[in-house]
Amino acid sequence: MYWEKEIETMDRSRLEQMQLARLSETLERAKRSVYYRKRFAELGLDPGRIRTLADVANLPLTNKDDLREQWPYGFLTVSRDEIVRMHSSSGTTGRATVIYHTANDLAAWTNLLARCMYMAGMRRSDVFQNMMTYGLFTGGLGFHYGAEKLGALVIPAGSGNSKRQIQLMQDFETTVVHIIPSYALHLSTVFAEIGVDPRRDTKLRIAFLGAEPHSEKMRQKIEELYGFRAFNSYGLSEMNGPGVAFECAEQKGMHIWEDNYIVEIIDPVTLKPVPDGEEGELVMTTLLREGMPILRYRTKDLTRIIPGPCPCGRTHRRIERIKGRTDDMMILKGVNIFPIQIEKKLMEIPGVGTNFVIVLDRAGFNDQMTVKVEVKKDFFGGDLKQLEALRRQIVEELKSDILITPRVDLLEPDSLPKSEGKAQRVIDNRED
Ligand code: ADP
Ligand code: ZN
Repeated sequence: MYWEKEIETMDRSRLEQMQLARLSETLERAKRSVYYRKRFAELGLDPGRIRTLADVANLPLTNKDDLREQWPYGFLTVSRDEIVRMHSSSGTTGRATVIYHTANDLAAWTNLLARCMYMAGMRRSDVFQNMMTYGLFTGGLGFHYGAEKLGALVIPAGSGNSKRQIQLMQDFETTVVHIIPSYALHLSTVFAEIGVDPRRDTKLRIAFLGAEPHSEKMRQKIEELYGFRAFNSYGLSEMNGPGVAFECAEQKGMHIWEDNYIVEIIDPVTLKPVPDGEEGELVMTTLLREGMPILRYRTKDLTRIIPGPCPCGRTHRRIERIKGRTDDMMILKGVNIFPIQIEKKLMEIPGVGTNFVIVLDRAGFNDQMTVKVEVKKDFFGGDLKQLEALRRQIVEELKSDILITPRVDLLEPDSLPKSEGKAQRVIDNRED
């Protein structure tokens, strides 16, 4: 049931002692980087004086712009000879950042992924098809090495080429997949198109859904379409990549590995910590990274700590599924809206298909939201009354949640542009 029972179930006081010891080592290492040496000097901070975990709040926050400005080597704490790999973020919100790993860093990260996959129920006997982009993106190689370490048979399928993915699943009797949730929905339409039923004609039993926000409803929809259990997988390249937080068999929140990271939730405006249970921005400090330790990294991801122990026996705290990034928030007529709220409502409505996009326009002083929604194939049969009823239902359901009235356009199945990577959910045509 556990990959590393002692660490996964370690009592909190021992776990915190371990964190403090690792934090001291991390701070010693951080001093060797150009960036933190300068930052500590500016703040008159002597990291040797850190005595308790609460002192973490006195350390400087690090954000994506700091990483960008120090590009390419300002965060390195070892000589380049010791670096064996680099990765880079997807660059969803601007210039990509680069992260460097020593051999030990890779070994620790690989182990975390094996721990995650084992926790969700994957075993040596499984056939694992990794449908993420290989290359600079961490979802490919990260999971790949983790699955090999676990001992499964790994199919490094990479992303895209849907028909071939399905062929691989059938030929090699894939049991576990790693897939982006929006792509999983799209792939289900390809299954239907070629007349293969994923529930009946494959051996799929587990999926890891990662890389983008998705609601509980979306998870359930994907589980129903495929007949497997889907586990939420969270990570970001600055903190290695996947393997940071992952769901256990309970599927109620993601354990965030506190032997590898110090976890804080802060108010993104005041930057002060919020109490357990309250929503805020996730901030993380690496505890084992040698080549490029990062202190108090502002992930921009909004979540909360789920208070209380998990029935699975692991003592590492859990975070709620990510609501979105602070910069995903749309402000319309003074109302704050996250794309995931729209997604959640859409997934509850039976006639809705597998893709949607939100378009924001400005007409005079008025902001207008248009939600373009693909409709299920059997709904698009031609009965206009039925379609109009569906359209009205979507408008009403969305309005009840987001409090403004969106325009809703219904589209044919598969008519929106598809993405093999992270879905782009919002197109903002308003000028600043
Ligand atoms: P980029 O920041 O350029 O997108 P990454 O590939 O490092 O590059 O992406 C990490 C980000 O992806 C996270 O900060 C988060 O916003 C999002 N993300 C990853 N996994 C999940 C998940 N399971 N749920 C919600 N968001 C996720
Ligand atoms: Zn658990």
